[in-house]
Amino acid sequence: MSERDYDVIVVGAGGAGLAAAVSAAQAGGRVLLLESQEEVGGSTQLSAGLLTAAGTTVQSALGVEDSPERMFQHYMDLNQWRVLPGPVRMFCEESSGLIEWVTDLGVEIPAQISHNAHQPGLCRAGVEDVWRGHVPKDQGYGLVQALDRARARLGVDLALGSRVEDIVVDEGAIAGVVVEGTTITAPSVVIASGGLAANPQLVERYFPETKVAGDALFVVAAEGSRGDHIGLAARHDLSLFGDGWGLLLVTAEFQRYHHWQSGFPPPSRIHVATDGRRCMDEDAPYAVSPGILGDHGGWVWAVFDEEARAGLPAGFADWTPDRVDEEVERGTVRRAATLEELADLIEVPADALTTSVARFNEQFRLGVDEDFLRHETLRGKGVDPHLAPIATGPFHAVRMLPAELVCTHTGLQVDARTQVVRTDGRVVAGLYAAGEAAGGILGERYVGGGNSVAHALVLGRVAGREGARRAARSTRTTEVVPT
Ligand SMILES: Cc1cc2nc3c(=O)[nH]c(=O)nc-3n(C[C@H](O)[C@H](O)[C@H](O)COP(=O)(O)OP(=O)(O)OC[C@H]3O[C@@H](n4cnc5c(N)ncnc54)[C@H](O)[C@@H]3O)c2cc1C
Repeated sequence: MSERDYDVIVVGAGGAGLAAAVSAAQAGGRVLLLESQEEVGGSTQLSAGLLTAAGTTVQSALGVEDSPERMFQHYMDLNQWRVLPGPVRMFCEESSGLIEWVTDLGVEIPAQISHNAHQPGLCRAGVEDVWRGHVPKDQGYGLVQALDRARARLGVDLALGSRVEDIVVDEGAIAGVVVEGTTITAPSVVIASGGLAANPQLVERYFPETKVAGDALFVVAAEGSRGDHIGLAARHDLSLFGDGWGLLLVTAEFQRYHHWQSGFPPPSRIHVATDGRRCMDEDAPYAVSPGILGDHGGWVWAVFDEEARAGLPAGFADWTPDRVDEEVERGTVRRAATLEELADLIEVPADALTTSVARFNEQFRLGVDEDFLRHETLRGKGVDPHLAPIATGPFHAVRMLPAELVCTHTGLQVDARTQVVRTDGRVVAGLYAAGEAAGGILGERYVGGGNSVAHALVLGRVAGREGARRAARSTRTTEVVPT
């Protein structure tokens, strides 16, 4: 038997890392899970836990016809085939069994229709061709807890407060990792250290679209998302994929939190571009909204009336009647007695703005939006599309920007077995990547809802399994085993 400290070492204990650790242990490996923070969970724990998956038992129980082939076609088309077909095919195929795997580990995903990412069941976040978003009970926290319980049951060693500084590569194969100057050896290592959203320099370099939001930009990803995989790539000639991509959510200029805390803008509002004309479905899927804004100069004005302001529910951090008033004082929200005066304040043509508002009022009185089909989006969310008119002064306007940074997609390029590819095209034997640290599958278009958590769990599960198999093979020989 070759000498080693562990069979599989996993770097990072978020969704991808926990899935990798559990799956490697299920395949018989002796596993060490290293986490830089003082608790497990990463961004996965903060998420809604929404998982995209095709051909699942939850879908069939609800009579939804779907298959990995269908998901693959949709995924590739939405990303204009600019992602890697082999790894994407693997992702779609493995997504089928993911739901049963997490369910067996104790995650609850009831076979019922859900209208949003907070209601357990099957939902549709907008860009899927069929209902494919699986919402677990207790969201990302529930997922992490179930995975962590399984980790403990399976005897995986966990070291918190242990930031991996480097990997050790010997003659083209992985040999271990370095923590606080000490090398820990293993024939298989999974990099699952998350994204780079919490590292401003890397964000500027790898996700320049974030500059559009200027000072309004805020990060909701976990603080461990420091992009440590980028340094590994530079030091070990590893290939990166997904440069420039990630997920930004459109928020009001004054928002600083994810919508669970911030609250939601009033339904009776229109989004107008700098030409004063309504330019989009105000509830367009988050996966595509920043792109639509991009076509209109990067941001739009949300216009709403006094009734909409006063009717905002209390209890949120940002979208409440009082906060909107405060922002009027600060100058972030513009307020005027008439629409013509508001147009003047926000420097858009008054006739275009009044025409847009009149058309909105006329159409939504009937619950139909012939121009942007927003009535269909609202129905999908379980909201009655008969919206109150924008008619009671004073009127308000606030800039809506792609300002909430959720996750990033520049990762270590992987093949269809999650092996990390070098810049010369060869793989590093025994080195795997999963989650945001892996590149090739998460594209420019977020295939929401649930693209990223599913990606983390699927790739983590595959990487753990592959890593344990390689470790088992390498115990039968003293040679480095080709993968
Ligand atoms: C508020 C919010 C809501 C979201 N909602 C959804 C959703 O519903 N559905 C969806 O699909 N996506 C969602 N996302 C995105 C999704 O949660 C993440 O992209 C995904 O969970 C990332 O998983 P991961 O395992 O790659 O990274 P993480 O879960 O962030 O885990 C990475 C871990 O690695 C650790 N780490 C980093 N560097 C090192 C190192 N050098 N050594 C050791 N450990 C290290 C980190 O501390 C962290 O714990 C959401 C994100 C946020 C922030």
